[in-house]
Amino acid sequence: MTDFWTSLRHFLEFQREVFGDYVLMDRSSPSSQDASHTTMPTRRRTTGAAAPPPHHERAEDMVLFDLPAAHPATPHETWMSVEEIRGLEAQISGCQKCPLGQTRTKFVFGVGNPHATLMFVGEAPGADEDAQGEPFVGRAGQLLNKIIAAINMKREDVFICNILKCRPPNNRTPQPEEVELCIPYLKKQIALIKPKLIVCLGLTAAQNLLQTNDSLTKLRGRTLEFENIPLRVTYHPAALLRNPNWKQPTWEDFQAIQKLHDELCTR
Ligand code: URA
Repeated sequence: MTDFWTSLRHFLEFQREVFGDYVLMDRSSPSSQDASHTTMPTRRRTTGAAAPPPHHERAEDMVLFDLPAAHPATPHETWMSVEEIRGLEAQISGCQKCPLGQTRTKFVFGVGNPHATLMFVGEAPGADEDAQGEPFVGRAGQLLNKIIAAINMKREDVFICNILKCRPPNNRTPQPEEVELCIPYLKKQIALIKPKLIVCLGLTAAQNLLQTNDSLTKLRGRTLEFENIPLRVTYHPAALLRNPNWKQPTWEDFQAIQKLHDELCTR
């Protein structure tokens, strides 16, 4: 039985490939316009000597099934067509696509200037962020604020967000399935904000945005690209809190980031 349906599906897919979406249904008949009978197939006329079709029947009125439009690789979701960052938050903040939706306190969308030229991407909310619904508000966030001030900017000037919008239990590293479901939101944020420069804070942000397994050592110190937007990678502020030896290289990273950002903004 399964084979029958599989063959039928292949046959119909082939027919659609060749003839398009309209195959053999009399669209002009009153019953085919009645919503309560829309999906029943009509038989193709095969009997007797081929009678000429009535004058009003044109080829495009004849279809066998009203086939649904081809499924795009990613089904369309309403948030995908949002045109403003504020509207996006309202659309996605109730997300329950992965189990983190059940364990989070607050959805952490991101914060900052919707027209920011500089965008920071971290890993995922921690306990403080989960409680307050804002990224980088804990100790790592205090350090990030100081770093931003050191390049003569304010937190409100930039946009700050994460790869994941919900806190993983015990701050564990995001799992690939969580990233796969959540990263489209980040990509949409990037598409709406159109920053001149993206800064990835730490390896998780960099590897997931760049789709690479390269090490932080390999990724730091270079200008990379995400969808034609220049991107730099530096240490995560939480890593700096654990290892103060990384403060000097981070300072060098941010001098390069400031210079590049200035150049990109004056182009
Ligand atoms: N660490 C992150 O990666 N993001 C936050 O928002 C807070 C801590």
